[in-house]
Amino acid sequence: MNIQNLSLEAIAQQFGAPLYVYDTAKMQEKLTLLRESFAGVPLKIKYAMKALNNISVLRFFKNQGTGADCVSIQEVQLALHAGFLPQEIIFTPNCVSFGEIQEAVQLGVVINIDSISMLEQFGHTYGSSVPCCVRLNPHLVGGGNSKIQVGHIDSKFGISVLQTRHLHRVIQTNKIHVNGLHVHTGSDILQPEVFLQGAEIIFDIAKDFPDLQFIDFGSGFKVGYKEGDVTTDIAELGKKMTTAFQEFCQSYGRELEIWFEPGKFLVSEAGYLLVRVNVVKQTPASVFVGVDSGLNHLIRPMLYDAYHEIVNISNPEGAQRIYSVVGYICETDTLGSDRKLNEVREGDILAIKNAGAYGFTMASQYNARFRPAEVLVHAGKAHLIRKHETMEDILRNQVEVQI
Ligand SMILES: *Cc1c(COP(=O)(O)O)cnc(C)c1O
Repeated sequence: MNIQNLSLEAIAQQFGAPLYVYDTAKMQEKLTLLRESFAGVPLKIKYAMKALNNISVLRFFKNQGTGADCVSIQEVQLALHAGFLPQEIIFTPNCVSFGEIQEAVQLGVVINIDSISMLEQFGHTYGSSVPCCVRLNPHLVGGGNSKIQVGHIDSKFGISVLQTRHLHRVIQTNKIHVNGLHVHTGSDILQPEVFLQGAEIIFDIAKDFPDLQFIDFGSGFKVGYKEGDVTTDIAELGKKMTTAFQEFCQSYGRELEIWFEPGKFLVSEAGYLLVRVNVVKQTPASVFVGVDSGLNHLIRPMLYDAYHEIVNISNPEGAQRIYSVVGYICETDTLGSDRKLNEVREGDILAIKNAGAYGFTMASQYNARFRPAEVLVHAGKAHLIRKHETMEDILRNQVEVQI
């Protein structure tokens, strides 16, 4: 299996497994698709860096002309470190302290407020001197994985669209300058119709906000994880949203920017987790393939029941057999059960696909294991962008006391 004409197996041999490998050509392809689909409107892409926040990846996106979507002050600092300008960064925190929002104001980034209480504090503190965006919750549910939907009625995210009267009271009393409206309904909304429904609700609310500069539709693009998966048809979404947005701007009286914050869509398919097979273990019920990785490196299968395709890149011609691929963590950590793989031998390298998003960023040191190294393949060359950890990383910040 190759990316940009480089063999993934050779990359694993060179840098050592377990290893995350990312392909900038794939990221570029996704970016281009998104831009072409929204060519008719003033589109701004704010890369949701929580999906994959290695500085070299951030620099790549910065050079491609995107902004960044950050959910913590540390992500804001990372984005600034990577070279994003403050005005290109949107800070969309949830349930953080007001102090953290003030820090972000100090740094000059776009502020997105997620609750009435924070908006009141924001208004008391800044009045109309610092603009802010308001995150709304339209209570949409759009199929897909219920664990990653954040727009439903029980969700903690955003200010409910049922509270708009209260919202206006707070804004008017404090003379708050609202320059954007934001909605992000979750990471797995598949139908363009759901997007459009959400958009119509927001347009209806937006007409009562005279100072808007942008409307941010968040993300929620559904990505295919295996053959036959339903994915968001970006071209179709682009066509429908372009028409709806242009109509809205016409009635609003001014052209606004349309923002999106894709994470998974841009990087999921660009990433592979390469792992080595430690043991092939026959039990009365099945054949387990035990690898030098697990939920400490890729938690999505256990956390979200996510399906990640697995390929034996060391034996592509081998006869296909059924295996369950499991990790070395002392927990149930199944990476894939009952998978058809080319015959697996101890020492083989397996590639776990769609590992670019929420892979490394969710990795931990559980079981005192090291987190994997990361490699970025760019312009036909493989670059190490994060070293393998060592015992020093495990011991860092521990204070040893004599007891
Ligand atoms: C997580 C998140 C995103 C990105 O979601 P993806 O499904 O990875 O595209 C965008 N915006 C906000 C506010 C988020 O929290």
